[in-house]
Amino acid sequence: MLMPKEIEVKSVLNKTKRRDPWFLDDYTFNPYSSCSFNCLYCYIRGSKYGENLAESLSVKTNAIEILEKQLSSRAKKEQYGYIVISSATDPYLKIEKEYQLTRAALEIIEKYRFPVHVITKSDLVERDFDLLKKIDSNAIIPKSLNLKRGVIMSFSFSTIEDQIGALFESGATKPSLRINTVRRALSEDFLTGISFMPLIPYISDTTSHLTSAFAIFQNLGVDYILPATITLFGNGKSDSKTLIMKMVQKHFPELIDKYNKFFENSNQMPEYYRKAFKAKMQELCAQYDIPQGILLAEKGQAIREYLPE
Ligand code: SF4
Repeated sequence: MLMPKEIEVKSVLNKTKRRDPWFLDDYTFNPYSSCSFNCLYCYIRGSKYGENLAESLSVKTNAIEILEKQLSSRAKKEQYGYIVISSATDPYLKIEKEYQLTRAALEIIEKYRFPVHVITKSDLVERDFDLLKKIDSNAIIPKSLNLKRGVIMSFSFSTIEDQIGALFESGATKPSLRINTVRRALSEDFLTGISFMPLIPYISDTTSHLTSAFAIFQNLGVDYILPATITLFGNGKSDSKTLIMKMVQKHFPELIDKYNKFFENSNQMPEYYRKAFKAKMQELCAQYDIPQGILLAEKGQAIREYLPE
């Protein structure tokens, strides 16, 4: 196993400029730098971290001490808001078993009564359900949000198929195991949803894949779904666009011409695709009765869409 680097940082609690209407992030907290889940499409990719993200993984050894200082100061000023854990790594990487920085951070968060939005691809989050329960009932929710829950739990999926996951997100917990963890989070009565992104064009956005996934999510009884298509960056050897192209060329050669056409001069899929994608997601959310947005899940409203501006 690769040994992570140990680093010290000056700040670990990042105040966002503006709360994202989908992720509801007032703050972000990343206990690790880089990410051993190594998803090819990850937005943190680029020359800074190299081709294998696991090789550039670092542990912020003073994260908890700094977090306590920053949170106590925010709490004194009553600047309560959702802390997204995490935005640029996964909070439940395999090394979390040893370092336990996420767990220690949750203890501080509980002490200062901040709410959290946990975003993960890992089953290790189950270890912390006890602490998350306390945060869920005791956190102070920002008045500007009409929410009652101190914990929001989003599980990220780019596919529900283990074979596809092994290609595109090789270090993450298998989708089939992740589904079991979603089930357990729901049975513990957490506000639990799916960050269904990025859907990989012609691979995990096919009608058969989508209908299987939505049927599973409906059957689980997820509270919301946040679907999005893919954005790819860069032409360097560690960039997401390069790595996805290589993977498609190797395992889906029949799709490479399409991918070249779509991404040659763009980071995004063409507008007609994005429009069709949005319409398809609205249709599936209505058909499977899954709210498209966290705020709608909490309110239990009949509206089935809450898209970012
Ligand atoms: S789990 Fe998230 S942060 Fe980690 S590599 Fe995958 S997309 Fe990036």
